[in-house]
Amino acid sequence: MFDKIRNWRVRRAIARHPIAEPLWRDALQRCPAARRLGASDQATLRVLATLFLESKSLEPTKGLHLEDADRVLLATHACLPILKLGMDWYDGWHSVIVYPDAFIPRRPQIDAAGVVHQTHAVMAGEAWGRGPVIVSWADVLNTGKPPGHNVVVHEMAHKLDMLNGDANGFPPLHRRMDRREWSRVFSSAWDRLKEEQRNGADLPINPYALESPAEFFAVASEQFFEAPATLRQHLPDVYRQLEQFYRQHPF
Ligand SMILES: [Zn+2]
Repeated sequence: MFDKIRNWRVRRAIARHPIAEPLWRDALQRCPAARRLGASDQATLRVLATLFLESKSLEPTKGLHLEDADRVLLATHACLPILKLGMDWYDGWHSVIVYPDAFIPRRPQIDAAGVVHQTHAVMAGEAWGRGPVIVSWADVLNTGKPPGHNVVVHEMAHKLDMLNGDANGFPPLHRRMDRREWSRVFSSAWDRLKEEQRNGADLPINPYALESPAEFFAVASEQFFEAPATLRQHLPDVYRQLEQFYRQHPF
């Protein structure tokens, strides 16, 4: 019954606000990760992007204006991670706030000792547990620069991670996945990269990954979609875990 309602809603949403062909072609042009997909996956992605635009509110701020093509592009990036998972994985939140540029969150942070800090870090994006996703449009336009960078995929990975509690690099795994294997693979890759970092080596992944396990998962997810060959070459075990989680084989 619920499936029927959902399908009917989906059909209605797509019939009411389909993504026009020129906008979709433009999005594919600007999103290499989507361009690499086969025709049937691209068709699914287009449906998901339509639903995303229907169900989420994209909120440009600080004078930013987004054209329809920009909205479609943002939705296309956002739906890459859920291509084989489905829109339900993005339930429970509503807004994507889009800043023109990198931003400084003006809110206090409370550390483990109960001390409140005002953060001054410049952010490209941010995802709150039940709240909005925040991204910088300049960073969205810089997808792939440097290779592997994708701020939208990064924030969406945090959203998936937080489906089972805190962002800790441990999203809800599928039934046939092995939780211990996931932990073992990610922590041994972490240890190795930390070691390489201490030795001053160039890392095969954005060093921001080593901020925390949550950032490791988010940064590895960016690379999985944007530069899959590099991730598979340098961190093959991590690549395989992400293949199982996202149910995609981008390389
Ligand atoms: Zn992050």
